[in-house]
Amino acid sequence: MLQAGLAMMRQYELVERVKSYDPDADEALLNRAYVFSMKAHGTQTRASGDPYFSHPLEVAGILTDLKLDTASIVTGLLHDTIEDTATSYEDIERSFGPEIAQLVDGVTKLGKLELVSERTKDAENFRKLLLAMSNDIRVLLVKLADRLHNMRTLSFIPRPEKRRRIAEETMEIYAPLAGRMGMQDVREELEDLAFSELNPDARESIIKRLEFLRAESGDRVTKVTDTIKPTLANEGVEAWVTGRLKRPFSIWKKMEEKSISFEQLSDIFAFRIVVEDVLDCYRALGVLHTQWSTVPGRFKDYISTPKPNNYRSIHTTIIGPEKSRVEIQIRTKEMDEVAERGVAAHWAYKDKTRGTLPGSPYAWLRSLVDMIEQGDAPEEFLEHTKLELFQDQVFCFTPKGALITLPRGATPIDFAYAVHTELGNTCVGAKVNGRHAPLRTVLRNGDEVQILTSKAQVPSAAWEGFVATGKARAAIRRFIRNAQRGEHIRLGRSILEKAMADDGETYADKAIEGAVRRFKMGKGEDLLAAVGNGTLKAIDVVDAIFPGKKRDRRPSGDRGQPQSRIPIKGLIPGLAYHIAACCHPLPGDRIVGIMEPGKGVTVHTIDCDSLEAHQQEPELWLDLGWEAHASEAQISVGRIVVDLKNEPGALAQLTLAIAKANGNISNLRITERNPAFFQFIVDIEVNDAKHLTNLMSALRASPLVASVDRVKG
Ligand code: MN
Repeated sequence: MLQAGLAMMRQYELVERVKSYDPDADEALLNRAYVFSMKAHGTQTRASGDPYFSHPLEVAGILTDLKLDTASIVTGLLHDTIEDTATSYEDIERSFGPEIAQLVDGVTKLGKLELVSERTKDAENFRKLLLAMSNDIRVLLVKLADRLHNMRTLSFIPRPEKRRRIAEETMEIYAPLAGRMGMQDVREELEDLAFSELNPDARESIIKRLEFLRAESGDRVTKVTDTIKPTLANEGVEAWVTGRLKRPFSIWKKMEEKSISFEQLSDIFAFRIVVEDVLDCYRALGVLHTQWSTVPGRFKDYISTPKPNNYRSIHTTIIGPEKSRVEIQIRTKEMDEVAERGVAAHWAYKDKTRGTLPGSPYAWLRSLVDMIEQGDAPEEFLEHTKLELFQDQVFCFTPKGALITLPRGATPIDFAYAVHTELGNTCVGAKVNGRHAPLRTVLRNGDEVQILTSKAQVPSAAWEGFVATGKARAAIRRFIRNAQRGEHIRLGRSILEKAMADDGETYADKAIEGAVRRFKMGKGEDLLAAVGNGTLKAIDVVDAIFPGKKRDRRPSGDRGQPQSRIPIKGLIPGLAYHIAACCHPLPGDRIVGIMEPGKGVTVHTIDCDSLEAHQQEPELWLDLGWEAHASEAQISVGRIVVDLKNEPGALAQLTLAIAKANGNISNLRITERNPAFFQFIVDIEVNDAKHLTNLMSALRASPLVASVDRVKG
């Protein structure tokens, strides 16, 4: 381990360390990376005063302890160059190829997460995030090595709050992660380094206690190993027997978990017997169990039933030499390797040539999860159900590095609305990882998303087709509804202007103020919108503004009837008649009258659905027809239903098309609304059925109109 002031590892030393376990390692590549990193970091220094380069070099050193491949070692050397020097992704790619560039980029992104973790108090989610962000397990291994070296040099950081935050993060996130990846040594060291920062008094007291124990009973480790080794040898089992004191944090944690005192603690020591082959494992076990009595319930055979992470070992506890409880693990050399290096060993064995595990980018994650899920401490993280949830999420970043969590399938539109509603409403485009991308691009883990905006932009209804978040969908709908309101206001104003002009009055915003109060509207725009969307009739507003004025014409057919000339023939003199509100018969339509007690005659079109009700009452039916003058003399109202594409401006185009066809809208209301379409019922003043038919043909010609039909019943 390098400490401040000590000499840095030389270039050839690093190469030798790699070559000791990987003779085929690319020496030239290692040398280039060493020089590249040293030059890139130049005169930068660390808090310890050491040249900055000492840090990536030590990280690379830790990675050689894990016996990782050359690409990982090179990544260790380069891991801080993109973030902390003028070096770019492209520079790395040019000099070291895409594989290493991606690894370095991955570590850089994990580095940005540390900023996020300052704000995120949820260690569980953060660990998931780390996993999700690491599409190559080597990224995580380099990150852990980086964290380990930073923890080893933590004491040089001057600000206590910062030291504490890093230590807490290590304890909550990185140490459990190392443990779950099977790297017990790294886990224990991380924990203990964090422990000494977070709880130095507790750690000190445990160390004092251990020293006292040693003074009292001598070197127990040596005594036990010196007894076990010859006992095994006598039975023909050749073995390496090692014992060690557990780290203070492990002891402290056991004491806390089991609420026991130091004296009651049996597993201060950990002994390990490493033998040549599997047969010797069981022979060694037989010797131990014959020689000493065993502690019931402590025997576990992970050789016949390996753990999912391929951990294999026999665990037993005996009342051993010195009459003390001794925990022992028995395993072969190969098993020992896997147990020590965990995922690192797993990775190296499994796919030495390809670097990543085969299959999808998440295949490795799945296998890692399988491995760690069923480990010793299932209380920790990544239970199966939670994993499903987490795979439904993607984690993206703003250009400033803020983390935005989105559901899988989310697009830049979702991202924009997740950041801020206004950003969503003014979004015109996006850059994903620095490149222009369509707004419907599905975002992936680790994407950095920059939203391009324009004040002139408004949300499109089409966006609803490719957003994944409720927030975006609601915001888009709200905006479109507001835009619709603007159109209703404009439409309401036109209708009122027309209605007043017909009365010989002139419309003015000021003139409607009285009506605003009368109809209990908040302001003039509300009244106009109500007229525009059909909830309030223009004529009623005109009545309210000019009360008592006698009008001789009503615009709507079902509001009354002109007294001058009756346009329908076949009626019974003296019997009142109404134009049916269900089918809005027009001059030119074939019509029929139904005599209803107390109401008079209601005039329907011959194909009106409501006639069904009177099928069994032929005595009530009257044959009717239009007078020849009906078209000229009478302004009739036709009712149509229009399916209009849900786009800004569509309503304005609809009303314009009606006006161009000499139709006059007397009423308009929305009957149905979905993301794609609005359905309107429109009452139009026309001369006759032919006029309405022509008008409907004109509407059908508009690309925004999906369908037009007359309302019949
Ligand atoms: Mn670093």
